[in-house]
Amino acid sequence: MLKLVTKNVGIENSHTLSVARSHGAYSRLEAAFAMTPEALTAEVIKSNLRGLGGAGFPAGRKWSFLPKDSPKPRYLVVNGDEGEPGTCKDKIIMIHDPHLLIEGIIITCWAIQSHKAFIYIRGEYDLPVEHVEQAIVEAKAAGILGETVMGHDFALDIVVHRGAGAYICGEETALLESLEGKRGWPRLKPPFPAVEGYMRCPTVVNNVETLSYVPYVVEMGAQPFADLGSERNGGLRMYSISGRVNRPGVYELPMGTPLREMIYDHAQGVTGGRALKAVIPGGSSAPILTPDEIDVPMDFDSLAKRGTMLGSAGVIVFDETVSMVEALKVIIRFYAHESCGQCTPCREGTAWLEKIVERILDLGGRPGDVDNMLRISRNIMGNTICPFGDGAALPVVSCVTKFRPEFEAWVRRGQPVTTLPVREAHIGEPVAAV
Ligand code: SF4
Repeated sequence: MLKLVTKNVGIENSHTLSVARSHGAYSRLEAAFAMTPEALTAEVIKSNLRGLGGAGFPAGRKWSFLPKDSPKPRYLVVNGDEGEPGTCKDKIIMIHDPHLLIEGIIITCWAIQSHKAFIYIRGEYDLPVEHVEQAIVEAKAAGILGETVMGHDFALDIVVHRGAGAYICGEETALLESLEGKRGWPRLKPPFPAVEGYMRCPTVVNNVETLSYVPYVVEMGAQPFADLGSERNGGLRMYSISGRVNRPGVYELPMGTPLREMIYDHAQGVTGGRALKAVIPGGSSAPILTPDEIDVPMDFDSLAKRGTMLGSAGVIVFDETVSMVEALKVIIRFYAHESCGQCTPCREGTAWLEKIVERILDLGGRPGDVDNMLRISRNIMGNTICPFGDGAALPVVSCVTKFRPEFEAWVRRGQPVTTLPVREAHIGEPVAAV
C-alpha cells in the first residue's frame, strides 16, 4: 500500500539529515524553485490538498488569499499544537521525518514569498520538539536554511515555539496570539490571518501534516496526487484509530477510504469480537456515528453530508459495553476544562453540561436534564467567537440524540444501561481512548 509522509517511519535515524536525504528529503526543492510562486500555488490548488489540521480548507486557496499589494512581511505559521482528543498523527511526522516537514515549509514559503516561518509545537511533545530543532540546526549547517536556500537567492529562517498546554492554542488565531506572547485567546474573524495574522501581517497558518504532503504534490504533479484520493479531497492522509479496536494506530490511507474498512480491515475489528456501538470519525469535536452509518467515505465532503466531520481524522471506536453517558462525561469534562472563557455561552454552557452529566451519573438526574443538555448545547452553537463552542456542543447533541434512551434510563432509574445485560457489561470502566 502506498505510503508518503509515513514511508520513512521505522527506518533507523530517519530524523537525521543524512538518512533523510538518502530517502529523498529536499529532492523536490529544485523543481519547486523552477516554478513561479503563482504556478506553484496553482499546482497545489489543483492537487485538492486540503488543510489536514481539522478545518479541511483547500491549502492552495488559503495561500492565494494573501494580499498581493501589502508592503508588510509575510509569515508561515505551522500548527503542530495537535491536541484534539483521539489524534496523534503530526507527532509521527515530527519525530520520524522532520526534514520532510522542513522541505514542505521551504516550498510553501517560496510559494507565498515568506522569509520567516514558525513551528508552534504542543508543549507536551518533547521528542517532536527535540527532533524538529535538531533538523533545523542540521539544515542550517548544510545551507538548506539561512541567507540562501540551497544556493537560491531566497532567505528563510524557521523558529520553533513551544505551546504551554492549552488546547485552544490549536485554533489558528489563538495560536497567533500565543506566538505573539499573549494569552491564547481566539480573535474575532474577520480579519482572517491571511490579511492580519502574526503581528498583524499577512500570514498563512497550515498544519504539520498538510505541509508534509506539499513535497509530494511537487514530486508527483497535481493531478496524480489528486487522483490518489476522492473527489475534491486529494491524496492520502493520516487516520489515528483508537479505542475498542484490535489494532489501534495511525494509518496513512487514501482520502475517502470507507470507515468500515478502517475499523474492520486496518484496525482488525472491534476488541474481543464485540459489537460496534458508536464511532467518532474526526476527533472528539465530531458528531458521533452509529454502526448503520459507517459505510461512508472518510473525506471532508462525504462526512459533512452525513452531518459529521472528518476534522483531524481521529477515529475513536466504542464497543457495545461502553456507557455513552460515561463516554460523554469524559468528552464534556475536557471541553469545560479547556474553554478559554471569553464567550459566555461556551464558558458557562460547557461547565453547565459537565455538571448535568456528572449529576446524572451520580444517580441524581432530574426530569428535564436530557432536554436541558440539548437546549444548552444548541444555545452554544453559532454564538461564540471561535469554533470551539460548536466543537463542544456537537458531540453532546449527537450523543444525546442518538442514545437518548440510555440517558433517560440513567435519569429515570438512576441505573446505568448498556446494550448488554448488566452482568456482562463493564460499567464504570474508563473509556480509555477518549
Ligand atoms: Fe474561548 Fe470558547 Fe469562546 Fe472559543 S468559543 S473563544 S474557546 S470561550
